[in-house]
Amino acid sequence: YTYKRIDPAKVKSQMAEIIEGFNNAKDARDQNKWMDKTKAIFSDYETYASIAHLNFNRNTKDENATKENDYYDEIDPSMKEISLNWAKTLLNGKFRNGLEDIYGNHFFNLKELELKSFDPKIKKLVEEENKLKNEYTKIIAGAEIEFEGKTYNLSGLVPFHTDADRDIRKRSYVARFGFFEKNSEVLDIIYDKLVKLRHNMARKLGYDNYIPLGYAAMGRTDYNHNDVADYRKQIVENVVPLVSRLHKQKKEILGLDHLYFYDGINYKEGDPKPKGTPDALVLAAQKMYGELSPETGSFFNIMINEELLDLVNREGKMGGGFCTAFPKYKRPYIFSNFNGTDHDVTVLTHEAGHAFQAYSARNQPLMEYYWPTYEAAEIHSMSMEFITWPWMKDFFKEDTERFKYLHMVKSISFLPYGACVDHFQHWVYGNPEASPTDRKIKWSELEKIYLPERDYDDLEFPKSGGIWQRQLHIYQVPFYYIDYTLAQVCAFQFWTKFNADRKTAWDDYHRLCKAGGSLPFTKLTDVAKIESPFKAGVLEKVVGEIWDWLKSVDVKSL
Ligand code: ZN
Repeated sequence: YTYKRIDPAKVKSQMAEIIEGFNNAKDARDQNKWMDKTKAIFSDYETYASIAHLNFNRNTKDENATKENDYYDEIDPSMKEISLNWAKTLLNGKFRNGLEDIYGNHFFNLKELELKSFDPKIKKLVEEENKLKNEYTKIIAGAEIEFEGKTYNLSGLVPFHTDADRDIRKRSYVARFGFFEKNSEVLDIIYDKLVKLRHNMARKLGYDNYIPLGYAAMGRTDYNHNDVADYRKQIVENVVPLVSRLHKQKKEILGLDHLYFYDGINYKEGDPKPKGTPDALVLAAQKMYGELSPETGSFFNIMINEELLDLVNREGKMGGGFCTAFPKYKRPYIFSNFNGTDHDVTVLTHEAGHAFQAYSARNQPLMEYYWPTYEAAEIHSMSMEFITWPWMKDFFKEDTERFKYLHMVKSISFLPYGACVDHFQHWVYGNPEASPTDRKIKWSELEKIYLPERDYDDLEFPKSGGIWQRQLHIYQVPFYYIDYTLAQVCAFQFWTKFNADRKTAWDDYHRLCKAGGSLPFTKLTDVAKIESPFKAGVLEKVVGEIWDWLKSVDVKSL
């Protein structure tokens, strides 16, 4: 795939021509032709920007890749400005009704949010924000941690956290948090600047604080922070007690009187590991997707044949996993950091869920409809983790049942943590004058509500309330976190559906993938024939089904 730099000045003049043509069009159909031209321009932009971003993430030490990524960060505000002018043109178009007939109103709702989330007067602030975010990325990706005579990055250290030997687990965490402790001050400064910068942006755009701006930037058209606060309460009421019960069960499985933070394993012998090399895992995945459905079969063959996967951890590579896409070429790309844990398999199925959605929606008529907003996007990925359960025996062999139990426990236990991160961010942006110390105190307070069992023993850094600094979303994409919990509740519903009737469930899932981002979250749940997690009582019901299954597992036999 070719890569180019986009020149914003050139795009600006092309767009001026398009806007004139659009405004002089005779009818909606005529306007639509100009929309197609815009689509081509922005599709190029998104494609090249995501290639630049990907190359940087693949090797953060490559000077050239860093330069290209910086370039796309730098032009981001100018491109936002161009996009904003186009949004204004669209919203004020003479034949908007005709276009709404073709595309539905979601597109226009999204454009309205674009207007609410950006203005040229915050352009400089956005540039500064991008620079700060990259500073954070560089610190995290550049981690070089000494452990047992070797040097590791943060992803590389993870397997030791789940070692069967408690002492290794603890010491590996001491090493990890030592890195954060060392960088604590600079991480505090970066975040403090980001919070103040974002608050400043919000004030310039006429908001009281950053919360409504953050929601607009996330493209949330169908719910607000009050709905989210109610939903978090449902988590506290229905999930936190269940996680406490699982905690007790874990003590029994491990034969420990008390669990500390570093007791992240779930079985005495350590957690199940995938059997086989990364290449073998990919082959198993290819077989699995071939058997799952004709659509997933041809999709995954493309991913392999066109080298759209970078899966294994290596030095200089950015941590984590993500899926990106090149709309110009109608292709997704999967990035991850295999490190030999069970997470390798879940990250692969997870990111493949995203990629399959992007691939399935590749013929949506608008760029804006390729991907849904984040909370809806995570439904495809998190559901895929469960849809692939019947094939887990190919990855985990004799440890399959252990893996399934662990996967479910981890998934349900994630909800309170996700809500805690979300609650924290609402507090941070609601209190922009708070000091770094205030933030740490607040985090510790919230942990007591959402994660009451957590005990850091004598690990000083997390004990002082700093552990959230490892959560990159908090720095990079404010308010992007509750999304995972909302999607998890949807994925649990798919798990139930697939247990009942795989054929119907697959049709519902595939329909959802094809719908892409053509609708907002609470409408996409209708498309998938599942219930919105915001609806009162849904969480209680869904969690009840999961608990019934967990109870039925004879943990002693695992
Ligand atoms: Zn995801």
